[in-house]
Order: sequence, then structure tokens, then C-alpha cells
Amino acid sequence: MFISVLDLFKIGIGPSSSHTMGPMAAANVFRDDIDQLILQTPGNRNHRAYCVLKGSLAFTGRGHATDRAVTLGLHGYSSASLAGQDVNALTAKLWATDTVQLASGRHIDFNPEDDIVFDKSDPLPQHPNGMIFYLLDEEGKKVLSETFFSIGGGFICTLAEISQLDAPLKIESAGTYPYPFDSADSMLEMSRQSGLSIAEMKRANELTRMSEQDLDQGLDSIWQAMCHCVEQGLTAEGRLPGILGIRRRAKDLFRQLETNPEKGTLNDWLCAYAMAVNEENAAGHMVVTAPTNGAAGVIPAVIYYLLKHEGGTPQQVRDFLLTAAAIGGVIKHRSSISGAEVGCQGEVGSAAAMAAAGLSAVRGGTTEQIENAAEIALEHHLGMTCDPVGGLVQVPCIERNGFGAIKAHTAAALACRGTGEHFISLDNCINAMKQTGLEMSHKYKETSLGGLAVSVSITEC
Ligand code: SF4
Repeated sequence: MFISVLDLFKIGIGPSSSHTMGPMAAANVFRDDIDQLILQTPGNRNHRAYCVLKGSLAFTGRGHATDRAVTLGLHGYSSASLAGQDVNALTAKLWATDTVQLASGRHIDFNPEDDIVFDKSDPLPQHPNGMIFYLLDEEGKKVLSETFFSIGGGFICTLAEISQLDAPLKIESAGTYPYPFDSADSMLEMSRQSGLSIAEMKRANELTRMSEQDLDQGLDSIWQAMCHCVEQGLTAEGRLPGILGIRRRAKDLFRQLETNPEKGTLNDWLCAYAMAVNEENAAGHMVVTAPTNGAAGVIPAVIYYLLKHEGGTPQQVRDFLLTAAAIGGVIKHRSSISGAEVGCQGEVGSAAAMAAAGLSAVRGGTTEQIENAAEIALEHHLGMTCDPVGGLVQVPCIERNGFGAIKAHTAAALACRGTGEHFISLDNCINAMKQTGLEMSHKYKETSLGGLAVSVSITEC
């Protein structure tokens, strides 16, 4: 299996990779399909597009801005193209229009208020994040339809593709890569045989599809975007969008730490940095999937701390990201990074495992110590549910990223003080996460039907 570091870490907008970035990408694909079809249709007939959101997308799609994402995607916007734009103003403008102009210049009818349906009946059997797009002709007859699944981290697949995927995940075959590890065990073995670190093997794999310069530029762009998120979040204030009226806290926490640094602990700084990113995500601003939007704060917080407080270097950031991506790829391949599939253990748990591995790597850990660090961090997230209050990626998500960063740091420290020998392997831990996710009630998998989400009375507008 192979997932590029530049695909796993994607620059996009909040608040959710599976509920925002994935649906936007799917709407974009359907927009192109519509264009191809109606270009072959004589005359200027009135067509109308509509979208049915299923499963978790139906239950938490309003809070996660899935309807906004579908609208933006049908109008031709992608997550990356929106970075730095005023997404709220743009969405408000598009929301008020009844038509979409396609790339060919032709127009179709689409009114987001009427043409996006949150269908809370049975989810599609293949995956909890399903969506079906339709194109109707002027008599109301369906002339085109396509089913997509948002499978975590902004990745999507079609109905035809999902049955061919193992996990089910969209991953390239490893056949053409020099180090085709598809498990932690095979990664350890290849490292022993080659004498290369995880970062060096991952780099060698990446260089079969891009130049060294492109790879390093891509890694640097990812870090610059992550760094921008941290620093934006540390200066922003006010309340986050949505019915909860949650106040941003990262700026105030950071100010306290800067004023009295002698009173600040590692945990305080990590929380400030992680919460800064996740407040940006909750605001719908630019973030980097790491490996998802909901868990976007863990890795930037650990790297930011490394650079600002521990004398880390840009080359270390590249190795950190490559190592983290190798671990994230194995988790994604063998289990899931989607809260709708396996709960928050797959999102913040995976992010913590990736960060722990990256930090161990730049501290000079052996491959065994790095694998151990990832396992420790993941192990102590097992069973963690996804129960966001009000369907918003705010409570418990924002604080949870701070805790994920702290656990990642602790896991790296523990592993680097050991020999790398340990009782539960990372592969076994990933298997446990997958099985736990399979047995977890759908109430705790991004539907906001259980746990914290029902512990308070919220009226969704
Ligand atoms: S609880 Fe975890 S998995 Fe669920 S939305 Fe929040 S961060 Fe994502």
C-alpha cells in the first residue's frame, strides 16, 4: 500500500475532512460529470442537481457544514482553492443563488436550501458517510446519479470503487515502490534489512513519483500551512460559529504563558498550540488534515513546540512529517482514520500515534523505538468515541487535540527511554482499534446520538 505524505497531509478548510472536504471533492467530481453529460445534450434544457446525505453526514452534516461544502463543490470550489478566502461570505453569496454555472458555461438549477436532503433513515450499507448526487431533466426524470463515500481525511471513493477497497480505503498498490510496507511489522523488517530509517524509506517511496525538490517543497508548504494555523489561532478571539456559542481560549492561554513563562508547563504550551489549530478548524478556516481536520491540532502542536522550545530544525520537520505519514498510512490501510467508522480513536488516536512517531524519529529514536512510541500513543486512545456536541467539531474536539499532543509527547519520551522492545505490537494495537470500532455503537461514531452529545440539551436551528 502507498499513501503519499502530500495526500495524507492536505491543505483545506474546516471543520471536518470527512464531512466538509470529502463532500466538496465529491460535488466537484459530480459537477464535471454533469458538464460532460449536458454538453452532449442538444438544446438548452433545464436541468436540476440535488444531493442526498446519508448516515453520519445526515446526522452531523449541518454542524459540520456539509451542506456548505456540497454547495461550494458544485460551484467548482475545492478545499485548497479556498485557503485564505472569506469562506463565510462566499458561501452566503452562493446560498442566495438558484443556479450553478458549469465549466462549459452552461447553467443548471441548484438551490442549496431545497436541493440538499439530510436523510436520517438507514445509512448506505457500504459506509457511514454516503452521499448520492442526482441530475434531473426538466420533466423531473433522473438522467444521472452517482454515489460517493467520504472515507476519512478528505479521501473519497465511488460506489464502484468501495467494494474493491480493503478497509475500505483508497490507496495505491505498493508494487512499484522500493519499500512497500503495509504493516508496522513489515516496516520494521525493511528498516532492519535496508539499514534505513522510516523517514528515509518513506522518502525513497515518495521519490518514485516526484523529484526531491518537489517533495521538500511540498513538505515545507505543509509545515508552513500548519504553522500559519497555530499562529492565526493564537491571535484570534471571539466566539466560534454555531449554536453552542463557544468562546475561543487559545489566545488567552497563550498570553498567560507568555506573561509568566516560569509558570507554564509543557502541557500548557501543547494545549495552547493544539487548541489554536482546532479553533481555527471550528471557525471553518484553513487547516491541514493531520490526518483529519478534527485531529488537525495534534501534529502541529508537537512540531511547533519542537521548533520554538526545543531547538528543532527545518530538516527535522521534514523527517517528522515523513515518519508520521508512514505511520498514518499503515493505520489508514489496516484500520481507519475516520470518526464515522471507528470513533475518535481513529482520529485523535491516529494523530497522536503519528506525532509520537515523528517526535521519536527526530530525537534519534531507533525504528523499534518509533514503532513503540506510536503504539503507546494509540493504545491509550483505544475505545475513544466520537460524540461531538451539537454536531459541531468543537466539544470535545478542541480540548481533545491538546490531550492528544500531550499523550504523543509522553509516548515519545517513554519509548525513547526504552529499548524498543514491548509487549503489544503496533499492528496488534491497530487491529484492536479496528475491532473496537466495528463493535462500537453507531451512536458513538460521529452521529451525535450518544455520549457527550446527548448530555446537554441543544436545540439545533
Ligand atoms: S470527537 Fe474526535 S472524531 Fe469526533 S468530530 Fe471530534 S475530533 Fe473528530
